[in-house]
Amino acid sequence: MSESVLEMNGVKKRYPGKGSRGEVHALRGVSLSVGKGEFVALHGPSGCGKSTLLLAAGGLLRPDVGTIAINGQDLYSLNNSNRARFRAANLGFVFQQFHLIPYLDVLGNLMVTEVATGQSANAKKRAEAILEQFGMAARAGHHPSELSVGEQQRLALARAVFANASILFADEPTGNLDRDNATIVLDYMKEFAGNGGVVVMVTHDDRALEHASQKVSLVDGRIKE
Ligand code: ADP
Repeated sequence: MSESVLEMNGVKKRYPGKGSRGEVHALRGVSLSVGKGEFVALHGPSGCGKSTLLLAAGGLLRPDVGTIAINGQDLYSLNNSNRARFRAANLGFVFQQFHLIPYLDVLGNLMVTEVATGQSANAKKRAEAILEQFGMAARAGHHPSELSVGEQQRLALARAVFANASILFADEPTGNLDRDNATIVLDYMKEFAGNGGVVVMVTHDDRALEHASQKVSLVDGRIKE
């Protein structure tokens, strides 16, 4: 296999019970290794643990047992602020809630890591070129609430490209999109993986599955071989 980017080892996650509902074993020991250039589609029935896996792998939800490393960095050995910094520098997210910042315009959202570190003229030029590449140049001054769902997805992708993210996590990225926009988003993700990145995508969509280079099937908190 090519150089490993994501390494999950024996990951378990339980949620405490509520009311009459007992404890839920969302992940029952997941090990997964994803190499550079892979486009992974994670699928399986509702409730099998897909979102839990994505959140844990994305450094957003600490597992009870097991380790998760990205580019050799054990995510949960970092304290919260260092993990947040690692996420901002290395990870991209295309989630339903997008993680776009409502009070920044499109250019500001794209350059959000740069805004924190002091933006240079070069960075702005690069951001504008990426917006152009994603068909968003005319939207640079708009705010997320003025964008269509497809445009918001594209902006989230563009941000991962701008930040040179090594891995992109996507949760049902084609779920709310029409066929044309779904194709655009899938093509961009494929290109992101093709350029040496990694994509880990949760999806129910057969067309999205076809784009993946590796399909991982999850059943009841375990990977089905
Ligand atoms: P999927 O994404 O495959 O639908 P999830 O990872 O969302 O699966 O959920 C796996 C299991 O964990 C389900 O039984 C779900 O109800 C439960 N679950 C998910 N999140 C929570 C939570 N915050 N609290 C309690 N149970 C949860």
